This record gives sequence, C-alpha cells and structure tokens, in this order.
Amino acid sequence: MEPVSGNLARLRQEIEAHSIAAGRGKHAVHLVAVSKMQPENRVIEALEAGQRLFGENRVQDALARWTSLKPRWPDIRLHLIGPLQTNKAFDAVALFDCIETIDRPKLVDAVTVAMTKQGRKFPCMIQVNTGHESQKSGTAPEDLPALLHYCSRKTLVISGLMCIPPQDEPPALHFALLKKLADRYGLPELSMGMSMDYAKAIALGATHVRIGSALFGKRHDQ
Ligand SMILES: *Cc1c(COP(=O)(O)O)cnc(C)c1O
Repeated sequence: MEPVSGNLARLRQEIEAHSIAAGRGKHAVHLVAVSKMQPENRVIEALEAGQRLFGENRVQDALARWTSLKPRWPDIRLHLIGPLQTNKAFDAVALFDCIETIDRPKLVDAVTVAMTKQGRKFPCMIQVNTGHESQKSGTAPEDLPALLHYCSRKTLVISGLMCIPPQDEPPALHFALLKKLADRYGLPELSMGMSMDYAKAIALGATHVRIGSALFGKRHDQ
C-alpha cells in the first residue's frame, strides 16, 4: 500500500496546480481528508505528514476515533460530511468544527440549541441535493432560499454549499449548479469534488475537496 505521506504530497501539488490553472490563488482550495472507515494507522500517517483537516460521515464513528486522537493533535479540524439526525446534533456540535450537511429547519433548530447550550458557534454549510435524488439527503435547490432565510433567523451562519452528485451523471453539471447557487446567495465556500472528480470541481469553483480513497487507499466498505 502506498504511504499516505506520498499520496498527500502528490494531492497537495495537484490541488495547487488545478487551483492556479483555474486562475485562483495557490491556497484557494482546502483538502478535507475523508478518514471514515480507514484504519487508525493510516489516519495517524496523515496527521504525522501534517494534515489537520478531516472529514467524517458518522457522528458515532467520528467520536470513537477522534476523542482519543484530538488531545495529541489539538489543532485538528473536523468536518461532518454525512447526514445528521437531530438526536445526534448535540454530540456533533461538541466534536465538529463545521457541519457541511445542514438540510432542513428541524436540524437548524437542533444545531442552534446545541450551540447555545455549549456556548460554541461555528459556520456551517448547507447540503444541496442537486440531482433531486429521493434517497439522498440535502435540500432541493428550490428550497434553498427559504432554508437560508431560516438559518439567518436562527443566527446560524452559513459559509457555503456542499453537494454529492448522482453517481451516473457527469458531475460537472452539478458542480456548476452549486457554484451558481452559491454566487446567487453570496456564499463564499463550496464543498464539492471527491477522489475521482476533484480536478473538475476545482475548475468550477470548489473551495473544499473531500478526498478519501485517493489519499488513504480503498476503504473497508469498498
Ligand atoms: C466518502 C465520502 C467522500 C470521499 O470519497 P472518496 O471517493 O473516497 O474520495 C467524500 N464526500 C462524502 C460526503 C463522502 O461520504
């Protein structure tokens, strides 16, 4: 298996190159290392190579992993990139530094209540279901303005949008739609692009790419 440090160095170079090619700054794009379902030794390799921003898709798994690692690397930042149930909002607010998957008013309520209780505030992102897939979470594009309005009423700061394009469609259409929505509502951040399509996502305006397998290797679920 390839060492994580080599993969990380190569990915950083490529992200920078694509970012420059898109006419954006060298540091315009953040690499979110998706550590879900990866063995702990691979995650520690990434930490030792200097990676500090990680993405997890399940609150319980993330708690189990990062409760013990966080004290050793106190400057790590964690993004929640999977769907969030309201009954896990309290744990999510305690652990994560950004929830990328805000998608409904009830979740806004749960997250803001948890933030108030914990005296902890951070900007979140809204997940948009750009492909209108019934099995996928995320708000429908046409419901985005109402949800943004609701967030602002609840004083939940939204820094950007996130999407996961349908598997069987060209992702570029979805990236372009997400970019258009972000521009329309004045949102600076765009979390889009994964191992297979991050170059295209950067070309279309991604500020955060979420990369798992290209960094760590195949997951146990793959
Ligand atoms: C697993 C996951 C990723 C990473 O996928 P790779 O193809 O392994 O890079 C990115 N985003 C989300 C939301 C995921 O669940």
